[in-house]
Amino acid sequence: MGPDPELRSALLADRAGTANRIAALTADLEAIVEASRLVATDDEHDPEGATIAFERSQTTTFLEDAHKHLADLDSALDRLEADDFGRCEICGNPIAAGRLIARPTARTCIDCAT
Ligand SMILES: [Zn+2]
Repeated sequence: MGPDPELRSALLADRAGTANRIAALTADLEAIVEASRLVATDDEHDPEGATIAFERSQTTTFLEDAHKHLADLDSALDRLEADDFGRCEICGNPIAAGRLIARPTARTCIDCAT
């Protein structure tokens, strides 16, 4: 059984979207860092500062999640090429494509996951 072309293109589409999200979040984070620098310069007691700190930490978290998701997708694509992908490690049955798209790191089918 060769790599599933539909699954492969879904993973590649997700990868492209994730790379775009990383670029957008990186730009957001730079803008937030710049804003926090301006706030700190103007008045460190500015209530704006707390909002910016929150946004900064949230954006950093989103960015870390996006990087992790990208690494998961790359690993899934590697395993897909190696034909070592999409089969449950426990029962040996194929894992549903929808599950693999939602969770590219899934190594078990939904029945064995619980
Ligand atoms: Zn299974």
